[in-house]
Amino acid sequence: QIGALPMPDVPGGGEPNIVLFLRDLTEARRLETMRVDFVANASHELRTPLSALLGFIETLQGPARDDARAREQFLGIMRTQAQRMTRLIDDLLSLSRIELREHVAPTQPLDLARIARQLVDMQAPLARERGISLTLETPDAPMPVLGERDELLRVIENLVENAMKYGGSGGIVTVSLHRLTGTDGRPDRIELRVTDAGPGIAPEHIPRLTERFYRVDVASSRHQGGTGLGLAIVKHTLNRHRGRLTIESELGAGTTMRVTLPEYRAEAGGAPPEAG
Ligand code: ADP
Repeated sequence: QIGALPMPDVPGGGEPNIVLFLRDLTEARRLETMRVDFVANASHELRTPLSALLGFIETLQGPARDDARAREQFLGIMRTQAQRMTRLIDDLLSLSRIELREHVAPTQPLDLARIARQLVDMQAPLARERGISLTLETPDAPMPVLGERDELLRVIENLVENAMKYGGSGGIVTVSLHRLTGTDGRPDRIELRVTDAGPGIAPEHIPRLTERFYRVDVASSRHQGGTGLGLAIVKHTLNRHRGRLTIESELGAGTTMRVTLPEYRAEAGGAPPEAG
């Protein structure tokens, strides 16, 4: 936007004064559109289970009032819908909390390998139940990063849950940790990979997966209890940790999600990494 404001004439004559202002509205407009889209999407996502709940309540108060079998069945569905709303609200709150602190770098030295191990242990019963082989591969050494334990646990949890959800039943999911070397030949980054052997993701979807509510297949995501916010939470958490997410996938061959974080090097006398 370019504009000109006339200024009062200076007494005594001379050229009239004007102030020119230049403002780039493109970025402001883009952010405003994103905000409006987000509110519209969030409202739609909340309205869907809410409409289902209202529909079932009306049926239970009317036609199905005396049908004990229908009541049991409907109550089960209503519970699932209410749980879905709870998950959605939890994810929306997590996302806004993370965004609020996105510019505050975390300062706690942590061992990413220990956090990954805790997560794999936590998910082991669910993996067994679904016939999925979930394994952790890590060198016998700490993987030190600066971070917030609960946030990093959540990042790994979202990626492992996705690999188990979309990787196909009876699948193989591997979490592995690696130290990457910088140009000076010294290790300077820690990489965590979550690999599945599922159906993979078509290339046109990959750049959009971290957008809020973007899903390749909305019905399948909902069926799996997804909110469409998992990878957005991962992306914003990693921004805060000065890390990044890289998605590699091939249709029919599976997906690898790579999380890269700066390696923490303790100064002499610095705190050793701990699991938090
Ligand atoms: P959701 O709650 O739908 O799982 P996410 O933000 O975690 O939301 O993921 C966004 C979408 O990315 C998913 O709906 C799914 O289509 C796709 N996706 C994520 N991880 C994988 C994976 N490992 N394999 C195939 N598709 C995946």
